[in-house]
Amino acid sequence: MRILISNDDGVFSPGIAALAKLATEFGEVRIVAPDFEQSSMGQAISPSRPLSYRRARIGPFEAFRVNGTPSDCVALGIHHWERVDVVLSGINQGLNVGNACWHSGTLAAAKQAALFGVRGIALSAPSIEESGDYDLMMPFARRVLTTLLTQKPMAQLHNVNFPLTPRGITWTKQSVRHYDGKIVPDKDPYDRLVYWFAALPIEGVEPGTDRWALGEDLVSITPLRLDLTDQQGLAEDSKRLKFD
Ligand code: MN
Repeated sequence: MRILISNDDGVFSPGIAALAKLATEFGEVRIVAPDFEQSSMGQAISPSRPLSYRRARIGPFEAFRVNGTPSDCVALGIHHWERVDVVLSGINQGLNVGNACWHSGTLAAAKQAALFGVRGIALSAPSIEESGDYDLMMPFARRVLTTLLTQKPMAQLHNVNFPLTPRGITWTKQSVRHYDGKIVPDKDPYDRLVYWFAALPIEGVEPGTDRWALGEDLVSITPLRLDLTDQQGLAEDSKRLKFD
């Protein structure tokens, strides 16, 4: 199995090295990741400038760094390596649940794989400064990858999030009822008004969602699709609202 690994935290993130080490248990590994952090860049690509593809030194792994976005990296990685079986993205320094799925560069790398017809799995966890290391998480990450890589799941795209101290694994749906993005006014050192677009904690969670699972110390696996069509809306609107 050929496993292409990327992320949005940059090629030298400890999360990517931990993921690459685990992935070698499942197949041949190559890392292609951004030069610098690209968190919250979402699905951005760089169509108006050239991209460079340079070798990087990440432990024993074949690794390349790209002056582009996570999506650029996946596109280049798939271009330079024939028959990639799966793209793993992460392990992100920070969770990607709920509406973060719209902004996440980690998930975007996995989505970019799916757009190319390659399976994509995004993996995120609280930042390593909080967790200390990945030791507690790794047995769970191994079980997740064993299931997703060897048992032929239906979905081509999965979003996986790990709590600091997991006690189990569960299937979830994306939590979308509440949005955690808020504009927070602040003052700069010159007393001028500035604004943060910050993600603030949300009160209350819907059972069965990714956000709920993490609160229960469960690893969350959400199968995702690329089709954004609101099927119910399409069925009802096209029946009721006519253009003549
Ligand atoms: Mn990130």
